[in-house]
Amino acid sequence: MKRAADVVIIGGGCMGASVAYHLTRRGVTDVVLLEREHLLGTGSTGRNAGGVRHQFSNAANIRLSIESIALFERFSDEVGQPIDFHQDGYLFLLSTDSSVDAFRRNVALQRSLGVDVEWLDAAAATALAPGLQADGVIGATFCRRDGIADPNGVTMGFAKAAQAAGATIERDTEVTGIRVIGDRVTGVDTSKGAIDAPIVVNAAGPYAKHVGRMAGVDVPVDPYRRHIFIARAPAPASTTTPWRVPASRIMVIDFETTFYFHREGAGLLFGMGDRNETSTFDTTVQWDFLPQVIEVAVKRLPALADASVSHAWAGLYEVTPDANPIIGAAAGVDGFFLINGFSGHGFQHSPAAGRVLADLIVGRDPKFDLTAFAHARFAAGTVAGERYFV
Ligand SMILES: Cc1cc2nc3c(=O)[nH]c(=O)nc-3n(C[C@H](O)[C@H](O)[C@H](O)COP(=O)(O)OP(=O)(O)OC[C@H]3O[C@@H](n4cnc5c(N)ncnc54)[C@H](O)[C@@H]3O)c2cc1C
Repeated sequence: MKRAADVVIIGGGCMGASVAYHLTRRGVTDVVLLEREHLLGTGSTGRNAGGVRHQFSNAANIRLSIESIALFERFSDEVGQPIDFHQDGYLFLLSTDSSVDAFRRNVALQRSLGVDVEWLDAAAATALAPGLQADGVIGATFCRRDGIADPNGVTMGFAKAAQAAGATIERDTEVTGIRVIGDRVTGVDTSKGAIDAPIVVNAAGPYAKHVGRMAGVDVPVDPYRRHIFIARAPAPASTTTPWRVPASRIMVIDFETTFYFHREGAGLLFGMGDRNETSTFDTTVQWDFLPQVIEVAVKRLPALADASVSHAWAGLYEVTPDANPIIGAAAGVDGFFLINGFSGHGFQHSPAAGRVLADLIVGRDPKFDLTAFAHARFAAGTVAGERYFV
């Protein structure tokens, strides 16, 4: 293993891979990416729903989406990897006056930034997603350029392109300590020995707080378990009527309950937040949560009553107090950079977030107002968070 590098990146999920890729594109190729697991992308990145959307409440997140989606659209040409990107749209269903008021303001913001978002009534929403039951829905929003993509393809695309440009990727290598002299980072200790480096990037996903502590830095990111369930279509012989689910891969989100679904092959992928969940690193599937999800789910998509759940998994959201990420220099330790806390929507922002951080590392102006993502915002108490937290 190399014993010195210009940049060490801790974590081989979509964030670490994106930073490595964008650094090499800026001519910084003496980069070592360290991943403690045997494979890249097996943390949160390997367990997510693949959703990609422009629809956020915070202008900085909308800007990350605009840039990231543009790269997803040309990913296979530019990065060299197919990512199975389907832009069948994201449909948000709203059932309370307060949500409608907030979404009206947010749609105005999204449109002011150039995003084409439609405001729909319940009938138009059900027309877009056959099989949907829209009782109580008093408004909906839809963006056609939103969609779903393959997180593994994105991560491997970035990682392979970075490697081809000279970056080194070390798997099965755990970072156990970060060396700091005075207020400067000087390198890392790993399960395979030390690496000297003037710049270290924390891309450790739900473990960001733990890695931050190694450098004496408080990174306010906590892990929360989220489940994904896969429903199999009923066998044709077991039902007399066709299975009423959308044929497209439209992502539908019931904003009040956070129940969401999209087509996954012949079946359906669905999930819902658990409002009673406390912070945990446990990713065991809680099968006793499934009945609560199904109770909500069948009201919106009755076809789920006829389906069997074939499998499920759980992963970790990496959540900050205001549901916005932290992108940039760590306050208090020179050379230590953070790309953490994407609060359930990080996969889709990995292209732009990695680009912005790479620019900061090489001293280029990222041309992006990072106020909402600054590490120092928590200490300063100035937070304008994200409301589209699903
Ligand atoms: C159920 C679920 C659904 C989701 N759905 C979506 C969605 O639809 N759209 C979306 O955009 N986002 C979604 N997300 C969020 C998204 O998955 C995350 O925001 C994103 O994957 C974070 O990427 P990351 O690279 O920061 O973290 P990770 O993918 O977790 O990568 C961090 C890596 O760091 C490694 N690591 C940690 N500590 C060390 C150490 N000490 N030494 C070496 N390596 C270390 C870990 O092994 C891991 O591989 C979802 C998440 C979950 C759990």
